[in-house]
Amino acid sequence: MNKVKEIFGSMVFDNSVMKEKLPKETYKIMQNTIQNGKRLDAEVANVVANAMKDWAIEKGATHFTHWFQPMTGITAEKHDSFISPDADGKVIMEFSGKELVKGEADASSFPSGGIRSTFEARGYTAWDPTSYAFIKDNTLYIPTAFCSYGGEAIDKKTPLLRSMEAINKQALRILKIFGNEDVTAVKTTVGPEQEYFLVDKETFDKRPDLIFTGRTLIGAKAPKGQELDDHYYGTIKPRIKAFMNDLDEELWKLGVLAKTEHNEAAPAQHELAPIFTTTNIAMDHNQLTMNLLQTVAAKHGLVCLLHEKPFAGVNGSGKHNNWSLSTNTGVNLFEPGETPYENAQFLLFMCAVIKAVDEYQDLLRISVASASNDHRLGANEAPPAVVSIFVGEELSAILDAIETDTPYDTKEKELLRIGVHVMPRFARDTTDRNRTSPFAFTGNKFEFRMLGSSASIAECNIMINTAVAEELKKFADVLENEKDYEPVLHDLIRTTIREHKRILFNGNGYDDEWIKEAQSRGLLNLKTTPEALVHFLDEKNVQLFADNKVFSEAEMHARSEIMFESYCKVINIEALTMLDMVKGSVIPAVRKYMKELADSAMSMAKFSPLADTTYESEVFAKLSAACAKAYDMTKGMEKALENIKTIKDGCGKAFAYKDIAEAMLGLRALVDEMETLTAKEYWPYPSYSELLFGVR
Ligand code: ADP
Ligand code: MG
Repeated sequence: MNKVKEIFGSMVFDNSVMKEKLPKETYKIMQNTIQNGKRLDAEVANVVANAMKDWAIEKGATHFTHWFQPMTGITAEKHDSFISPDADGKVIMEFSGKELVKGEADASSFPSGGIRSTFEARGYTAWDPTSYAFIKDNTLYIPTAFCSYGGEAIDKKTPLLRSMEAINKQALRILKIFGNEDVTAVKTTVGPEQEYFLVDKETFDKRPDLIFTGRTLIGAKAPKGQELDDHYYGTIKPRIKAFMNDLDEELWKLGVLAKTEHNEAAPAQHELAPIFTTTNIAMDHNQLTMNLLQTVAAKHGLVCLLHEKPFAGVNGSGKHNNWSLSTNTGVNLFEPGETPYENAQFLLFMCAVIKAVDEYQDLLRISVASASNDHRLGANEAPPAVVSIFVGEELSAILDAIETDTPYDTKEKELLRIGVHVMPRFARDTTDRNRTSPFAFTGNKFEFRMLGSSASIAECNIMINTAVAEELKKFADVLENEKDYEPVLHDLIRTTIREHKRILFNGNGYDDEWIKEAQSRGLLNLKTTPEALVHFLDEKNVQLFADNKVFSEAEMHARSEIMFESYCKVINIEALTMLDMVKGSVIPAVRKYMKELADSAMSMAKFSPLADTTYESEVFAKLSAACAKAYDMTKGMEKALENIKTIKDGCGKAFAYKDIAEAMLGLRALVDEMETLTAKEYWPYPSYSELLFGVR
């Protein structure tokens, strides 16, 4: 496809467009803003806005929107047209620097966790010039941050940008100690691999659970699941292939580096991996990807399910967050170097990550906590809820040698002195094969695998960036004023390994033995969202975010409230949907079938004294008992939901909803048993077979 080059980024106001459309001076200032975060003055903003508008109109745009990422986890937009009346009763197309830089949005309908007091409903959107504007659906999209009137972040982008600033600042201090005078900026990079399911739209439309909750709340297993391993990397069906081609094209137009598409482990499951880029752009692109997955699917008569666990019994969907640090001079700081110098620097950054992950395990777990991801973590497919780091055998051996002051290479019988010896090179491939670790070093980056498929990548990167920034800060404080820093550095690395090696684990993360061992190492095992969330406001965490200027304490309280609340809301919707399905359709359908069984048993008996009605009477009895029990459970659940309304505090409420989630599992088991006993024509919903194998 040689048109790829032509369409790639064709709808993006990117560097090449800026170079062409902006006056030289303005272009230079813009570059400085994008690379080094320098502020733009009003005049420059006006010039940029005008050029943007002309370019957008040329491409058919009539509207613009400040595009932002409130704490709902998805994106929000409000469209304004470019029109402005002129003196002759006609219109001209206008777009000012002011409109580009700042927008006003009613914040009252977005979650703010109490930050936005009701009398001050205004919120502001502020242009993020580091993420390119683009055109979608005849509208110029301007990536923005979203703040309250008082300047508090009520979105996902603001704290992410702050966390990138924090790590930039501290990494630069470290790089300076190592003499890297030419580096002026350090950016975090991310490549998020996105998993998803595709189901047929017509089938989807018959399942209220999929419509309202994104997952199946009931459904007996299909005769076949993923046990044959015949879907992973399998041949892609023509209908899916057509969808993927379309999707790639749409993503490419928007400058998203969609690279790899393949079938995943579960039937109907697929994955898309982009090439990594700067984290805030990766976040914007991942949001666009999730959005386009759904709109492009609809064009193909499909529905894309981004839920972490749409189907019981087969794998759920994750989003692997591949994370690294790179300098503006193009150096990946997690690429082991060639010289003793580079090696020492690499090991220090490595130690910062090890220490950060150990000290802030709770935050990493919280960053992936949601009602939907709870179905995945700890099941036999995703990493466990216990956070640990995989570094591979070779790097482990090196860390061991440093920690214990023993020779690494037994042939040479020489101790490995940081800053003196060249660290042995290790082959990248050998580090890549552990697929069960939540946080794996894969040769020149870390792959955080706990993130769920529907989540924004913001939270986990905010946590990683801030925690690593904090450790780099502590290291820099120790090293900065040392004249002869090599022995100090050696000690620092050795002490860090000694104190934090409990977080390192190279074995099988799915193994029950590991969970026991992790416990004896004192690692956290926060199994569910409420259990994780209670740690968010722990003093050390509040301190971390305040010290690094990522969240104020007020912002943290707000976020805590929102996280508890959204967990409760999700389970409440699920419970109501389930009750509706069970009471409104499942039980009535089963009763109809029971009547059919009774009628036919009676008429058969009447017809012939030889008729054997064992089948009718046994199935009837089983269904009768199951129905009664299910009905009873629905009453219990309704009562529990009523009681929850009286609980005032968010945390208490969340734990009560956790019980509801467990009760739903019990009810589901009964319903699924009834499904296997009921004649197919009576069952009110499409089966797992139809859902998972229906796209041909
Ligand atoms: P796999 O995990 O299947 O071995 P790769 O290692 O090629 O695949 O990459 C997986 C993802 O990691 C891709 O999205 C890729 O762009 C991303 N990635 C590669 N290098 C980096 C980096 N330095 N920083 C962030 N992400 C990266
Ligand atoms: Mg991967």
